[in-house]
Amino acid sequence: MVINMLYGTVKTVDEAGRIVLPKEYRNKMNISSGTKVILCENDGKLTIEVLTPKCKLCGTAENVNEELSLCEECIKKVKEY
Ligand SMILES: [Zn+2]
Repeated sequence: MVINMLYGTVKTVDEAGRIVLPKEYRNKMNISSGTKVILCENDGKLTIEVLTPKCKLCGTAENVNEELSLCEECIKKVKEY
């Protein structure tokens, strides 16, 4: 399948409402099984945004524990407190 990243790819929704994200997009956007995405409808367009977990305290996206929504640095600080 040829994918045109610039003009989009035509996909057909199945009877359960699903579509498959083409491998090229998954690779480019670093999406794998279990990746959380945000669906957003705006002005007649549906967008899919990859959810990047951020630390609730400092806002960084690095080394974030997804269950706690805290980065390792902040977890250390909280433990020391
Ligand atoms: Zn933090």
